[in-house]
Amino acid sequence: MGLLSEGSPLTWEETKKLSDHVRKHGVIQFINLYKRLRDRQGDILKWGDEVEYILVKFDDDAKTAKVSLRAVEILKILNEKENEDPHNVKSLWRPEYGAYMLEGTPGKPYGGLLAHFNVVEANMRYRRQEATKLLQPNEVLMSLTVFPRVGAPDFTDPVTHPTPNAGASRSLFFPDEAIFPGHPRFKTLTRNIRERRQEKVAINIPIYRDENVPLLFKEDLASKGDDGSSSKAAKDNHIYMDAMGFGMGCCCLQLTFQACNIEEARTLYDQLTPLCPIMLALTAASPFYRGYVSDVDCRWNVISSSVDCRTQEERGLKPLKENKFRISKSRYDSIDSYLSEQGEKYNDVPLTYDDEIYKQLLDNGIDHLLAQHIAHLFIRDSVSLFSEKVHQNDLEDTDHFENIQSTNWQTMRFKPPPPNSSIGWRVEFRPCEVQITDFENAAIVCFTVLLTRVILSYKLNLLIPISKVDQNMSRAQKRDASKVEKFWFRRDITSDMKSDNAQSEYTEFTINEIINGKNGVFPGLVPLVNSYLANMNVDADTHCTIQRYLKLIQKRASGELLTTAAWLRKEVTSHAEYKHDAVITQRINYDLLKKIHSIVSNDISCPELLGQCVLSKTTETIPAAVAKAEKCSTTNC
Ligand code: ADP
Ligand code: MG
Ligand code: MG
Ligand code: MG
Ligand code: MG
Repeated sequence: MGLLSEGSPLTWEETKKLSDHVRKHGVIQFINLYKRLRDRQGDILKWGDEVEYILVKFDDDAKTAKVSLRAVEILKILNEKENEDPHNVKSLWRPEYGAYMLEGTPGKPYGGLLAHFNVVEANMRYRRQEATKLLQPNEVLMSLTVFPRVGAPDFTDPVTHPTPNAGASRSLFFPDEAIFPGHPRFKTLTRNIRERRQEKVAINIPIYRDENVPLLFKEDLASKGDDGSSSKAAKDNHIYMDAMGFGMGCCCLQLTFQACNIEEARTLYDQLTPLCPIMLALTAASPFYRGYVSDVDCRWNVISSSVDCRTQEERGLKPLKENKFRISKSRYDSIDSYLSEQGEKYNDVPLTYDDEIYKQLLDNGIDHLLAQHIAHLFIRDSVSLFSEKVHQNDLEDTDHFENIQSTNWQTMRFKPPPPNSSIGWRVEFRPCEVQITDFENAAIVCFTVLLTRVILSYKLNLLIPISKVDQNMSRAQKRDASKVEKFWFRRDITSDMKSDNAQSEYTEFTINEIINGKNGVFPGLVPLVNSYLANMNVDADTHCTIQRYLKLIQKRASGELLTTAAWLRKEVTSHAEYKHDAVITQRINYDLLKKIHSIVSNDISCPELLGQCVLSKTTETIPAAVAKAEKCSTTNC
């Protein structure tokens, strides 16, 4: 979750008073950083993945599976190696929101060699094994986007109880003990978001309308300790959730790319934006919430609502009085503007920002597009501030900038170089849901990285209006979206087609057509990747690995293989104990997670999800000869 400042968190009242202070200095810090680093050139392609995991504890006698609240203990041990020798570890581990979650990244970012695609999966496997070694018997590390029974009765190990009248969340369902206790940031964010909003967050996700779901699905919230506010916020026929943990307690798969300079970073940021909903639909993996089957396949709206700190005024429910702006989206949502000149004409949604901040950025030599992006991020208040960090040296520190930047949780993130580091301008790709196996996660990572190579080499143009990307985001989350929905996509991505009629620049395609192509109409992203690869010198093992990954992507897109979400649904709704009432009992949950564990451990196969061939030629390191041969071929030595 971005920056982890140390120190004592301020209360919401104190933070609120310092809100303008953080904004003012955050903007100055960005200006100083920009002036120092705008002309930075020559950084090479580097990239890395982030995988989030859930710790699960099985009880084979009681036939239960619960989230295990031991991340803090395990993380302490995992971090020891890094603390001793930070530059030579194979993995890095970070806390995440849940007391049952971990985030792992490779020890070092990968580079520009194609052979790096052959080490991604081995590194993911290494991470899984490394953490698994520290677990208790019957405890398992799982890369699951959502634990199906989060917030359902008795979902944690050890047993905990929600505290509707006290603590950070005040949830009827999600106990504060399930929030990562090792760093104050997480509970502080939870409390401050709730206090800023002046009510609990409200998440309503449509229930899956199975035959035995009551015609009016409405839960008795009073019996859970509701003071009336939850009943008001809960919608009929929806799964109602009331805490940050329901969203931030989900796991995702993220990717960060370093660009050679700020211009290339803008291009990547923009070109990857239309891919966000496409990749969200393709990686859909979260059909279950709070022990119920829902009617959506992705976590996005859940996580977006779970940190929606906007007041009623800001959400347009009351006239503006205390607050400055109407704000159309949560601070966790899809981006609102492109950053490159090429993207400018597709910026068709109104951007909210403070004119003074915008003007201050312009006056300091920042162009209109970047200025409005930063000014738009800075409409938000700080929701987590530490006393030690209030007063800073704006010439050197960037904490106030990072404070706002890292709590704008958007589909894409434009990351400036950190102060005094060798790291360049980067962009982060953040929509994907995490898959259950390393094979699938490596496939998604490698496909996305390859796409960036193809986009930059062939100068592809994927841009469509932001409003269409927004529409795609909502379509992507629908049940079975990758099979049944159509998505706005650019008709001709290979030439920068000039057209008087912007309408005709884009049209609706299925995921299958976007990924695999449509005869004579659209080339398809995987065929483009393949044509790029055909011109590259790649060693046999890497070639084989990449092909297996691309096949998985192609088959998911064509519907020949199920998406994770579709497979999870099928497993639950065909379980012997399932009563067609959308309820995931402890036993159904146990059997499902056991099966997932068997698949991940290669004890059983799952061809409907993974296909026949799940073995890649992945290796932990690139053989020296391969690296040398590839370097030679790319530099023409
Ligand atoms: P955050 O949580 O803020 O997104 P993390 O540090 O957890 O950031 O993850 C950043 C990702 O970026 C990791 O996969 C890491 O390997 C990768 N990375 C590190 N340095 C670079 C770099 N110079 N260029 C590109 N990616 C990098
Ligand atoms: Mg994370
Ligand atoms: Mg991270
Ligand atoms: Mg993060
Ligand atoms: Mg990240």
